[in-house]
Amino acid sequence: NLPLTKGSSGTEIKDIVNDIISEAQKIKKSNKSMHNKLEGMKTEIEDLQKNFEQAKTEARLDFLTGLPNRQAFDKMLKNRTGEISSENKNLCLLVIDIDFFKNFNDKYGHLTGDQVLKFVANRIKYLVKGKDFVARCGGEEFSVLLPKAPLSGAKTVAENIRASFANSKLKDTSNSKDLGILTVSIGISSYKNNESLISFCDRADKALYFAKNTGRNRVATEDDLAM
Ligand code: GH3
Ligand code: MG
Ligand code: MG
Repeated sequence: NLPLTKGSSGTEIKDIVNDIISEAQKIKKSNKSMHNKLEGMKTEIEDLQKNFEQAKTEARLDFLTGLPNRQAFDKMLKNRTGEISSENKNLCLLVIDIDFFKNFNDKYGHLTGDQVLKFVANRIKYLVKGKDFVARCGGEEFSVLLPKAPLSGAKTVAENIRASFANSKLKDTSNSKDLGILTVSIGISSYKNNESLISFCDRADKALYFAKNTGRNRVATEDDLAM
């Protein structure tokens, strides 16, 4: 079915060549538009990926203090205890709870309370080392994972944190108002090889309750529970 036959005239050949050129131009055009569409889709996918990564990060951060949240803590707890089981090293957990924080809110207001929570978060972060993991695990409760720390070392870190709050007065920088002294109580546990995460956390919680019940502004370890 060739359009070009032996007897084709010059005009016929010209028409056919023009048809071919016009088809080729159409194909070129449609390729270009396809290319543009694909480029557009690529950008859209990249944007979606960025948003997704950001959403994933935000989901693991506490919105008030910017610290990792409970979810992130649980994940890190799993990782760190996993490393311990294979490497047989130390790992300690501090559970830090602000004393009488409800009273503080009642006295100075919830907004000031929020600012203080941010301050406490930064202070704890400042007082531990880079490899230590600090998270906000509840309203006025923070947890710290101390890798490679024996119980005695964790106790020193906790005592340092406790004293840092007990020894300084808080001041509202916006109006220079004195906010008094805020104290914290801290419970500590040391990971026992192959124990469940629940029992590791439970001992720190029990030590914290012990510190609360024996006067607050105190550090207690799992060893205090045995006594
Ligand atoms: P305790 O010494 O026994 O820990 O006493 P507490 O008052 O600190 O403990 P309680 O569990 O009775 O109350 C915790 C308070 O923490 C209640 C709540 O007002 C406050 N709180 C929790 N989350 C936030 C927050 O995001 N912002 C503010 N401003 N306060 C919070
Ligand atoms: Mg409290
Ligand atoms: Mg609490």
